[in-house]
Amino acid sequence: MNSLPCLSLSLNVPGFPKSNHTVSVFFQSCLNDLKHYFIAHRIEIHENNTIEICDAAGDFFLVPLSINDFSLNKIKQICEDFEESHPLGRFIDVDLNDHQGNSVSSGKSKLCFYCREKPAIECRREKAHDFDQLRSFMFLVMDEYCRKQREERIAKKLSELAQQAILAEISLTPKPGLVDQVSSGSHADMDFQTFVDSTNAISLWFGELVREGFAFHEKDLTQALPRLREIGLRMESDMFEATGNVNTQKGIIFLMGLSLFACGKLLGQGDHFQVEEFRSIIKATCKDLVKNEMVNAVGSGKSHGEKIFLKYGFTGARGEAESGFATVFNFGLPQLIQSKELNDEALTQCFLAIAANNNDTNILFRSNPEVLYAFRKLCKIALEDFNLANYVALIDFCKYENISPGGSADLLAVTIFVWLVIQAGDQDHFTF
Ligand SMILES: [Zn+2]
Repeated sequence: MNSLPCLSLSLNVPGFPKSNHTVSVFFQSCLNDLKHYFIAHRIEIHENNTIEICDAAGDFFLVPLSINDFSLNKIKQICEDFEESHPLGRFIDVDLNDHQGNSVSSGKSKLCFYCREKPAIECRREKAHDFDQLRSFMFLVMDEYCRKQREERIAKKLSELAQQAILAEISLTPKPGLVDQVSSGSHADMDFQTFVDSTNAISLWFGELVREGFAFHEKDLTQALPRLREIGLRMESDMFEATGNVNTQKGIIFLMGLSLFACGKLLGQGDHFQVEEFRSIIKATCKDLVKNEMVNAVGSGKSHGEKIFLKYGFTGARGEAESGFATVFNFGLPQLIQSKELNDEALTQCFLAIAANNNDTNILFRSNPEVLYAFRKLCKIALEDFNLANYVALIDFCKYENISPGGSADLLAVTIFVWLVIQAGDQDHFTF
């Protein structure tokens, strides 16, 4: 190890103890960033010869590196650039020792992280600041930084899972009446590519919805709706732009939007995803939604869902949301949870379990309650006696009646999303 220069990372923690939970979490985050920074600058670090300790002197990391075409001064410059580019770089010490263990210095002095007026070394020598004051300031700033980092990682993870769920539903082939990889089902104006383009456009907003959940602290969750609607409308604009004015995913924008918001709210409060907690956030957010948006909207009904409500009284996606996704949790998830992986058979059975129990307003919009009940019955048969002939009979029925169970497809995507979030929670993806 002595024959190579070494890079080290430590933190400037005044007083004792030098480490605690906050400091260690922050240290790990810095270490991760530092490794990426050095690799990105094409500096070879010898990862299998690292020393990582946390003792009375605090958290410490040391790794030998190969100089290759770089001079030690150039590497020292990269160390300083890393410190300067990091939002809390003033807490961080990235040092370089040459192959004999001597510190490589650029001769520059760092400003004190607290007053930012004098060089740190002067404030330290003069004991210019009270240790307790310094420490509480530092821990507060680190805590805030780590919280934001955690939220960003969770927002990314949940966005990934939402996109995965939507693409899994779209890709499932064959499906009755719906767009899949080989058929446009009962749709003349869209195909698989339209859905891929649409998903691509709306998924860029998923992180925003999670962040709304993190930031929402009011007691009355219905107060979140105007902001969620605003994001939803922007998503719809982007969807129409991507599809040439075809409505592919209005339903899923609504349902997944609520789901992502609820996950943000839930995981902003703790590390664990709990189904009941998730449902109660959705319920509280959508309290009286049917009454406010459908009953009181009588006469001005414009959307498919509103027209169906006026005609038959079925509450569609809004009713499902107000119930805390009753169909998802009573029928979809119990079916999907039996499977250890998301294969075609598991997803098809999950779809059937949902469709057999859902008053799908997309079907009603093109037909009537008799056709809906006949469809639901065929779904039930296809699920109970799961074979190709029964499934093909269902597909043929949808073709003949020219119907598409788009509402059930949306609920399948939500079910897959919840299944994926539960799995991610089990794998500690939300614990940092
Ligand atoms: Zn100072």
